[in-house]
Amino acid sequence: MNIDPLGWLDERATARVSAGLRRELRAREARSAAIDLASNDYLGLSRHPEVVAAAVDAVRTWGTGSTGSRLVTGTTTAHEEFEAELAEFVGAEAGLVFATGYAANLGVVTALAGRGSLVVSDAGSHASLVDACRLSRARVEIAPHCDAEAVDRLLAERTEERALMLTDSVFSADGDLAPLTELHQVVRANGAVLIVDEAHGIGVRGDGGRGLVQEVGLAGLPDLIITATLSKALAAQGGAVLSSERVRAHLIDSARTFIFDTGLAPAAVGAARAALGLLRRDPEMGGRVLTRAAQIARIAGVPQPDSAVVSVVLGKAQVAYDAACACRERGLNVGCFRPPSVPEGTSRLRLTARADLTDAEMDSIATVLGEVLAQARAGDPQREPLATGAS
Ligand code: PMP
Repeated sequence: MNIDPLGWLDERATARVSAGLRRELRAREARSAAIDLASNDYLGLSRHPEVVAAAVDAVRTWGTGSTGSRLVTGTTTAHEEFEAELAEFVGAEAGLVFATGYAANLGVVTALAGRGSLVVSDAGSHASLVDACRLSRARVEIAPHCDAEAVDRLLAERTEERALMLTDSVFSADGDLAPLTELHQVVRANGAVLIVDEAHGIGVRGDGGRGLVQEVGLAGLPDLIITATLSKALAAQGGAVLSSERVRAHLIDSARTFIFDTGLAPAAVGAARAALGLLRRDPEMGGRVLTRAAQIARIAGVPQPDSAVVSVVLGKAQVAYDAACACRERGLNVGCFRPPSVPEGTSRLRLTARADLTDAEMDSIATVLGEVLAQARAGDPQREPLATGAS
């Protein structure tokens, strides 16, 4: 046989290019002059001297890798201390860190759900929660976005004894907030457990950045579990489950992404601890992110955001792609979300605010965004398509 078994990849690539959906990697420059409105470094701490020094110090103390899975050699006292600090910060009894936020979501959902249980997930839940549903082997129901009544119905009608409800607190594409109070009420009334992904909530919402769960008064409840990433406000890499001691113990015994994955790298633990320390010392950081996000939304002419994420929907994938390229060519680095990350016809620029944006940077943002968005919204057919890439 002389058939190229991967020939179909070329057809797919051609189709993606003609639909404006090609994704490209762009290597970041170490010292770029571009203004960053694309990263998740919400507090601007990833290069903070204290955070960098803590990462280096952790490497000197513990080595470059964690050397093994958590149950063998991958647990250091730094891991355990940080887990307790982070749990205390969000008001949970216990914490357990994972190699990524993705792994934390997969681990907790698959350890708590299985055949014979029900998992209800918000339609806007992050891809890692979607994959967690699929891996769990539970019956899965997708609830309409932010619809606590629908969640109530799905939970009440179930025949399974055990049930989980999954949602982001701050949704990653639009930056909108889940109705956590209502969700918790229906979850509790139906004897289920609520798992809230606070990836975009911690550091930004709540008192001193303690997250949306804390802000709405649900911290520390036995039937609510928080998952987190260390890769956004906490300027490092890794994930965490913040829960009761009982859940933590169960995860150590049975979460596959905890047991079979190498432990979180010491540098990440050191950096995240230092970032958490800085956030404690300057509890206004989260408020500054929200202020900058509100200013960016005004510049972009979109509704006021509830988080660091400012979503500027432009419609067609090609229009969003061209606008993102035009921003980049003018020194403004922005995110560009297209299908399948967002529904067809809602391709958008995704701008993320940071606590450390300066007034001078805000002036440049106003100039560039003003020009680019005016052109994109006018849908100028004479406009030259731009060559450089966006994701
Ligand atoms: N949950 C949400 C809501 C996210 O936005 C992300 C990261 N994009 C994750 C989970 C995964 O976290 P990590 O990048 O640490 O794997």
